[in-house]
Amino acid sequence: MKYRDLNIQTQREAPNNARTEGFSFLVRAGYLTRENVPTQLGEHTFDHLCDLSSNASFLEKLDLPLIGSDKETFFPIASGSMDVAHCPNCKYTDRLELAKFTKTIGLTHESPLPLEKISTPDCHTIEALANFLDIPKEKTAKALMYTRVADGRFVFVVVRGDMQLSEAKLKHYMGEVRLATAEEIERAGAAAGYAAPIGLKDALIVVDDLIPESQNLVAGANESGYHLKNTNYGRDYSAETVADVVQATGGDGCKNCGHPLSVLSAIELTTRKEFCFENILLALAETHHDAKGLTLPHPAVPFDVYLMNLPGKELDTRSKAEDLYGTLQSARISVLFDDRDERAGVKFNDADLIGCPIRVTVGEKALKEGMVELKMRKEKENQLVSFESIVEKIKSLVNKP
Ligand SMILES: [Zn+2]
Repeated sequence: MKYRDLNIQTQREAPNNARTEGFSFLVRAGYLTRENVPTQLGEHTFDHLCDLSSNASFLEKLDLPLIGSDKETFFPIASGSMDVAHCPNCKYTDRLELAKFTKTIGLTHESPLPLEKISTPDCHTIEALANFLDIPKEKTAKALMYTRVADGRFVFVVVRGDMQLSEAKLKHYMGEVRLATAEEIERAGAAAGYAAPIGLKDALIVVDDLIPESQNLVAGANESGYHLKNTNYGRDYSAETVADVVQATGGDGCKNCGHPLSVLSAIELTTRKEFCFENILLALAETHHDAKGLTLPHPAVPFDVYLMNLPGKELDTRSKAEDLYGTLQSARISVLFDDRDERAGVKFNDADLIGCPIRVTVGEKALKEGMVELKMRKEKENQLVSFESIVEKIKSLVNKP
């Protein structure tokens, strides 16, 4: 394709909203607008990636540092909108809200003690309660109340006070839920801020699997201003569901190998066998660039060759470049032909920004000797190649393993 047909607009300066270098270069090279909308060049690149994606090992060939599972593939990036738990040792990876991990009980086993109602004024939160009683959060039970959307059942969830509920895990067991309203909480016999799973009416009780392992926890008394000491699962209440419903945090042990899990910001490149081409392009730009622009690898790149002519005084370099453009296309080599009447420096800069692996320059001086100049994007030096053998030379470079 020709530079002018694609209306490519490169930029000298990085956009001031760029959160990563990869995004900055995609805008500067004219693949995306500053508003993250693909240009003609961007759309052309997505089409190219889409064609490639019919190949089973498409992603592996893009030379990206990927993490993932058999369901999903992620690319770690600081600007990523999602959190992923990743084990650097065994490579286990999952969305943070679904990640499995090894829970530490952190408490010594105790015999159950008798229930005791205590006054706990203004202890609406686990922090306030633990401070007031001078106990670790591990010794408290946290209550969360939902309503199941499908049948309106009241869902009462108990996790340990030092843990955070994962709504994604809860939904896996319960189906879609929403936060319970004040009326629904009252109807079930609970008290917001002082709720307990003991003595509820018509509630589906879900407890995290750490709760049955933890004795004598402080829980609400279902009465404002009061808590119960020494609540014990099994003796004081039971549950319909005992399961892992809490979220991992960085440093928790990997469920497979015990190594501490890392939490990484990431973008997803595939979900359920669907590719996210916008994110794949960002991952490519983030991974493959240098100080001058993109250095996209074959086969990800939409054009293997950046062809340009330098206007001459005696020879018509433009028509020679046009001839070469036609010949390369007949040889099924993808070419971007910079057909503008611009200065050499402008064209060289744009070639570096756009990042095709091979640059071919038709200039007067070399052409007088029957040569054109060839430069690999990742190398510093040019080489002169005869006009006759340039197509075979490019073919051998493109098909190199
Ligand atoms: Zn592991």
